[in-house]
Amino acid sequence: MENNVRVKVIGAGLAGSEAALQLAKQGVEVDLYEMRPIKTTGAHTTDKPAEFVCSNSLGSLDATNASGLLKHEMEALGSYLINVAKESSVPAGNALAIDRTLFSQKVENLLKESGKINIIREEVTQIPKDTPVIIASGPLTSDTLAEDIKNFGGSEHLHFFDAIAPIVEKDSIDFDKAFYASRYDKGEASYINCPMNKQEYEKFYEILINAPKIELKEFEKDAKFFESCLPIEVLASRGVDTLRYGPMKPVGLVDKRTGIENYAVVQLRQDNVSATMYNLVGFQTNLKWGSQKELLHSIPGLENANILRYGVMHRNTFINSPMLLEATLQCKKRKDIFFAGQITGTEGYTESIATGMLAGINMAKYLKGEDLITLPDITMLGALMKYITTCEQKHFQPINSNWGIVADLDVDRKIKKNKKLKNEMLSKRSLEYIKSVF
Ligand SMILES: Cc1cc2nc3c(=O)[nH]c(=O)nc-3n(C[C@H](O)[C@H](O)[C@H](O)COP(=O)(O)OP(=O)(O)OC[C@H]3O[C@@H](n4cnc5c(N)ncnc54)[C@H](O)[C@@H]3O)c2cc1C
Repeated sequence: MENNVRVKVIGAGLAGSEAALQLAKQGVEVDLYEMRPIKTTGAHTTDKPAEFVCSNSLGSLDATNASGLLKHEMEALGSYLINVAKESSVPAGNALAIDRTLFSQKVENLLKESGKINIIREEVTQIPKDTPVIIASGPLTSDTLAEDIKNFGGSEHLHFFDAIAPIVEKDSIDFDKAFYASRYDKGEASYINCPMNKQEYEKFYEILINAPKIELKEFEKDAKFFESCLPIEVLASRGVDTLRYGPMKPVGLVDKRTGIENYAVVQLRQDNVSATMYNLVGFQTNLKWGSQKELLHSIPGLENANILRYGVMHRNTFINSPMLLEATLQCKKRKDIFFAGQITGTEGYTESIATGMLAGINMAKYLKGEDLITLPDITMLGALMKYITTCEQKHFQPINSNWGIVADLDVDRKIKKNKKLKNEMLSKRSLEYIKSVF
């Protein structure tokens, strides 16, 4: 490695912060560019690094769950931000949920303490030509940089939509109606549940389907939603019971005071360590704020809820990774460029940190002239990398961790039918591989 080589990392989000820390660990000097607070994205609300823009949950911690396995792999590979997430966690059953303020503060401390990372508050408007660079500018990459990336990639830029769920103040919830419970009594009873009978659900549904939506801009109208993060109004438009089988599913949530499993339930997840804020699980929405207020106040227990943050919807940008990237996250046509985070088409907080980690590790290896890491698809991270770099370019859409992309087990069909056993075996296979190689 040349003595004075510096890497530019664009974006101090989840991926960029992790990538910068991985580079610093390898002794590489980093210029970490972050445009906030000079220019903001419309979803971020602070000037802090690694801000969680919507839900505060990174999903399951269980190694037999697809997202859980990814976290275990990241821990084994030395991810900084997964460690910080654990240090900043709030109770959320089997999931890893964080206090977002504490999390960002801890990440900022790590960046500053590394002694190798220079944080520059500036918008990068073009891909730097003369230095190695990791592009981790996220789904809300500024327009000027997005345009340059589009020209560089030589393809039409793609996008879809994500929406954010509202947050309410705990003290404004009516606990004569709401109750604490976790589904099937698993883990701590840390979720607040607002129960609905049939009549209450139907009234809620009426308000929802009749609520005015925010009009999409003309250029946004051909865009798609990300299927696993659909706004509630879109789910509701699919039928009266869709929500009862989705985010408002009542099964396994019994109110111990009455012994009743209700017709529908709205769940709220703790959002900060002091447990004063709770977000509505699966309630991402693009309704006008007045309609959101009416809708939330129609939920039993939330009649007087103080809404601390309303839901909003945003465009989400990603590159054509099958065309542009290797499974190491290195760019095919310029070897000193790596992409990381949601912009690669890996969807989700955990996935963004994971690709930041891999891009950081591989950029350091590239600079040292070492072989880059390509993980096999028996690991969740390897499977994600394989998917985004080998799937059909024309129909490429973002993806999150799931068992469908992982290499199949070479075992008897009977074992494969036992989902629990199969996932245990898949998980063991991946973690044993990682432990044996790294
Ligand atoms: C509205 C919305 C809601 C989401 N909700 C969830 C959720 O609930 N759960 C989940 O798992 N995932 C969610 N995601 C998806 C994704 O996990 C997050 O967006 C995640 O933060 C992506 O990490 P990242 O590092 O790629 O980007 P980010 O964390 O957004 O970081 C990118 C950084 O780059 C900066 N930047 C952008 N352009 C420039 C530039 N030109 N120069 C300098 N800096 C720049 C930005 O300010 C930002 O700080 C959501 C995405 C969006 C857009």
